[in-house]
Amino acid sequence: DARLSDWAKNISPSPTLAVDSKAKALKAEGKDVCGFGAGEPDFDTPNFIKQACEEALRAGQTKYCPAPGLLALRKALVEKYERDNAMSGIDFSQVVVSPGGKYSCYLAILATCGPGDEVIIPAPYWVSYPEMVKLAGATPKTIFAGDDQGFKMTPDQLRNAITPATKLVILNSPSNPTGAIYTPSEIEALVEVVIEKDILLMSDEIYEYLLYDGAKHLSPASISKEAADRTITVAGFSKTFSMTGWRLGTLVAPPAIAKAVASIQSQTSSNATTFAQFGALAALENPDAAKAAIDSMLAVFDKRRIKLLDGLNAIDGITCQRAQGAFYLFPNIKGLGMDSTSFASKLLEEKLVAVVPGIGFGADDYMRLSYATSDEVIDKGLERLTDFCANLG
Ligand code: PLP
Repeated sequence: DARLSDWAKNISPSPTLAVDSKAKALKAEGKDVCGFGAGEPDFDTPNFIKQACEEALRAGQTKYCPAPGLLALRKALVEKYERDNAMSGIDFSQVVVSPGGKYSCYLAILATCGPGDEVIIPAPYWVSYPEMVKLAGATPKTIFAGDDQGFKMTPDQLRNAITPATKLVILNSPSNPTGAIYTPSEIEALVEVVIEKDILLMSDEIYEYLLYDGAKHLSPASISKEAADRTITVAGFSKTFSMTGWRLGTLVAPPAIAKAVASIQSQTSSNATTFAQFGALAALENPDAAKAAIDSMLAVFDKRRIKLLDGLNAIDGITCQRAQGAFYLFPNIKGLGMDSTSFASKLLEEKLVAVVPGIGFGADDYMRLSYATSDEVIDKGLERLTDFCANLG
């Protein structure tokens, strides 16, 4: 349609949401679908968080609040970042609360990138990064990091990809779609390159608390003042507290960038939902209750992770890395001799098993499975997948 803008013509719809909606439609028809497509915890939001929101709603917290977020929440976020992420010297004015981690990412990119700028994105990547970069008029430049390197970009890969046009590099640890985590020393080595080349880093830490096997998360902004001066840390409440529908994201950035982000937000969305922010505030003000909620979710996720991992690796033609974060596994299906789109659609049609084809993440030899689903679905899904693969070709 000629009436569409160039922006609109160039954007692809989110493939992860597409699989999820196809699976949901089949389910609505009464089909027994095993869904591994979900990008959200299958738990409800902890009750103490819901209660705080309900109270705020009843108390009349139904108006606009300051565009960058409730002051109390921004101050609580400063405390969280100092307590949990070892960052220091943050002022609350560097913190912006937005309608979702996704929007925080978009604001960070819009505030720093434009036409002529290149943004380095390690693949497999979260589907939205390249699209957001294009919406900002900038150019995504992907670097491939397959399972042979643990899905992690090396400092040399980063250094070699940097040109005079490079403005920003995006890191997402723990990763969607791979579940991979950069170790603290790997993060330090990448940040060294960022500082040496004087580019910006957007660190998407939305899965920061979802860690297994004793893995440690290091926030790049905590490494040094030079690192903090170049890092925009984005995160949110969706994955940690099963609050995907609340739409609450966070961002911490150097002062000038935070100010620009707040201005863009004030002109495009005003503030994140006021009463929802009171729920998030309760999550931060009650670290013991928050920790208990996260720990019980993690214990369940961890069991499912191992069950799914072992089941996948038992299938001929599939190999899967032991991912230590988030709630995804990203097995290699190259041995099955099919591209990821054909594989995923045939699997859904023939066996009613929904997975996300790797191509949407820039990795066609892979598929993404979320284990934010029940044990029954994992058992049944693995059985069907094993059967499907045994009868291929
Ligand atoms: N970043 C990554 C890597 C994600 O996987 C997601 C959600 O799928 C988000 C950010 C944004 O989450 P939300 O907008 O729900 O806070």
